Order: sequence, then structure tokens, then C-alpha cells
Amino acid sequence: MSTHSFSVLTLPAEQLSNLNELGYTEMTPIQEASLPAILQGQDVRAKAKTGSGKTAAFGIGLLNSITVSQFVAQALVLCPTRELADQVSKELRRLARFTQNIKILTLCGGQSIGPQNESLVRQPHIVVGTPGRIQEHLRKGSLKLDDLKVLVLDEADRMLDMGFSEDIEDVVSYTPQSRQTLLFSATYPDGIERISSKFQREPLKVEIEGED
Ligand code: ADP
Ligand code: MG
Repeated sequence: MSTHSFSVLTLPAEQLSNLNELGYTEMTPIQEASLPAILQGQDVRAKAKTGSGKTAAFGIGLLNSITVSQFVAQALVLCPTRELADQVSKELRRLARFTQNIKILTLCGGQSIGPQNESLVRQPHIVVGTPGRIQEHLRKGSLKLDDLKVLVLDEADRMLDMGFSEDIEDVVSYTPQSRQTLLFSATYPDGIERISSKFQREPLKVEIEGED
């Protein structure tokens, strides 16, 4: 067994065989550096270039935190754009193939709100979306985050670039203090330090070398 194998982690056997079927035979460096801490519930702030496997790093972590028999939102992934949110949802569904009855919902702007409201009648386990639309649902009460366990800020640098700071702050105010907060970014502009210190508790800082 390679030391980079996912089987060094404490994961359900179904997840290990699923990863194998997906062709994920070894952890990527960012996964290897962040997953042990993520699976222990620690906050992590991770920097690694595009294409390095950041989605599975937080995805495997959040899937492990979810109780499927509880129909409440337990994980939220904030992304800068609809395209990125769709990509994250797609990867999460691949990683969750072994999990029966798990509901993953994508909520982004630029799409009509009616069908989103209907999808929220039964709360999903995992929500992936853009900050503005998530904020809208929280304000109306159609989405509830009182039982949130894991918050992910994905592509945090791009969200800051796009001016989402205040929206993110508002969304975070609807989540419990007890949550785990994971921040992933390809670069670390100044603003990252600020939002990390605001929203994270003693995060493990992981940086994988390589230009974006
Ligand atoms: P990032 O978010 O860092 O830009 P992604 O999470 O989108 O990167 O992953 C890039 C690609 O790598 C995806 O196609 C994904 O399926 C693949 N991938 C992720 N982890 C592994 C792994 N451990 N082994 C093989 N491929 C992987
Ligand atoms: Mg990514």
C-alpha cells in the first residue's frame, strides 16, 4: 500500500472503494496535507493551484460529517460563480455515490427562484451556491443553517475579487459558531488573511507550492 493511499485515512469502506472506482488511487498533495485535519473537525486554510484536487479534499471531509437521516442543511459550499458551483456539485455527487438518499442542492443567481423554493421545502443535506442567492434564501427563511456543521469558502480569492465580502459575512451570521470552516484558495491576496481570522478558529495552514 502506498503511503499516499486514501486507505491511511479513517473512511468508510464504501468511500474507499468508491474512490478506487473513480480512479483516485492516491491522494494529491493538498488532499494528503489537509484531509487528516479536516476529518478531525479542525478548521483548515489551504492554498493550492487550480486542478490540484481541492474539491475532493473538502468534499470527502464534509460527506463524513453528514448524518443522512437528518433532513437539515449540514454543509454549505460557497463558490464565486454558477459554473464553479455546478462543478463542485458534480464532484460531490461522484464522491457521494455510495451514500443513499443524500440530497445535494445547487442554489445560484441568474436562475428563477420559484423552483429553488420548491426544492427547499425538504431541506438538502448539502447546499452549494453563490453568496448572493444563498443570502436571499436565508433572509426569506427558505434556507435554514441552524444545524450547519461545515462551511466551505471555495475559491475564496475569486469571491473577494468579485466583491462578495459583505454577502459572505451576512451568510456566515446565519451559521452556528460551532461549525467547522474550511477555506480554499489558489492565491492568498491580503483579504484572505482578514476573512480567515474573522471566520476561522486556529486553522491549520496548508500551502502546496506551484503557481496558479
Ligand atoms: P481544484 O479545485 O484544486 O482546481 P478539482 O477539485 O477540480 O481541483 O480537481 C481537479 C481534477 O482532479 C478533477 O477532475 C478531479 O476529479 C481530479 N482528482 C481529484 N482528486 C484526485 C485524486 N486523488 N486522484 C486522481 N484524480 C483526482
Ligand atoms: Mg476548485
